[in-house]
Amino acid sequence: MTGVHSLLPEGQPGLLVSPVFGTEPYPGVEDLARYLAAGGYAPLTARDRLLDRIAAVGLRGRGGAGFPAAVKLGAVRDAPGRPVVVANGEEGEPGSVKDRWLLCHRPHLVLDGLRLAAAMTGAEHGYVYLSDAVAEQTVRHALAERPTGPRVDVVRTDHAYVAGEETAVVRHIDGGPALPTAKPPRPFEAGVGGAPTLVANVETLARIAVMHVCPDAAAAVAGAHLVTVSGTGGGAAALVEVPAGTHLKLPADLCGHGRAEAVLLGGLFGGLYGPGWTDLPLDHDRLKAAGGALGCGALHFLHPEECPVGLAAEATAYLAAQSTRQCGVCVSGTGALSGTLATVARGAAGDGEVDQLRRWSRQLPGRGACGLLDAAARIVATLLSHFPDRIAAHRGSTCPACGETAPGDGRRFAVTVP
Ligand code: SF4
Repeated sequence: MTGVHSLLPEGQPGLLVSPVFGTEPYPGVEDLARYLAAGGYAPLTARDRLLDRIAAVGLRGRGGAGFPAAVKLGAVRDAPGRPVVVANGEEGEPGSVKDRWLLCHRPHLVLDGLRLAAAMTGAEHGYVYLSDAVAEQTVRHALAERPTGPRVDVVRTDHAYVAGEETAVVRHIDGGPALPTAKPPRPFEAGVGGAPTLVANVETLARIAVMHVCPDAAAAVAGAHLVTVSGTGGGAAALVEVPAGTHLKLPADLCGHGRAEAVLLGGLFGGLYGPGWTDLPLDHDRLKAAGGALGCGALHFLHPEECPVGLAAEATAYLAAQSTRQCGVCVSGTGALSGTLATVARGAAGDGEVDQLRRWSRQLPGRGACGLLDAAARIVATLLSHFPDRIAAHRGSTCPACGETAPGDGRRFAVTVP
């Protein structure tokens, strides 16, 4: 991975004081003295004012679902009982490294955001939940030297696609397996130890910390995104901070993927896009209207010599392998999507298989206890709508780019932390 880039406008008021990246992205681990000098760990004198600011600028959670952060904070604050706050740094989406980068390079920014979340909700106990060994070390060191904040415990889990889902987080902190549970109740109603619990993505917390120090820049900070860019045929993978509404062309050009034929959005969560992808904006609502999802914001570009059918087959095979096998519909649904797509990729499918894929991609979303089944269905739905010619070209013929098998190990999407 080449490193990190900021595409935020440098002249934005306040942004130079303490942006998530800074004008010179942290090459090593964040220095406490430098963070304090930039205004970090400043007392929160009016908790409702910060909450109002977060609501006013419309900060959305960065774990994938894009839920309004202020609504979640307010729900935890107003629920009966003593709240608990969790910084969720277990990023299960292959191809995303932003959360691990934050934990490894800017642990104080994340811990400060957790402190502010605790103050806004009235929590006296917090957790940092993660799977990365280096991140654990960095966070423990930062916890030992931070000047203020609630009691915080670090909980480590094994890396898995669903281990960062919010009910899985609660379940593992409570001593169980990191597997999702049925909702309701949601964590804000009954979370860790039955207490109302805020499970917040670490990028969300980092942005809250910046907004506290730089109120004038709150709108720009809330709208910006950390985007992991990867793919074959371009430059090395990179982590990029882009302003709100940025079209995909900008990070693609920056990272050498301007000629890409397609892009897989949001890790594996947001769907696959073909012609016209350059004009897609990094915006939750506009992508949703286009039948996709922004998810965690990771972008995987597909080189013109690769095949979108093969990519979709690999992605769904990975999701099928990552199914926790708790919901019958997920076991059979991801297995059927993946198996049938593999048949299409091998050139052995006819109209019947393609019609089945179309039917399943409409019927399956929303039926599992977590978003894994939805992710698989969205990949299939977007493949069918954006690449009908490529699917037709596989009928009865062997695609040289697809190969014989579609491995489900996710290796193709893996990116290392810069
Ligand atoms: S939808 Fe799939 S991955 Fe999610 S909890 Fe159910 S079985 Fe597990």
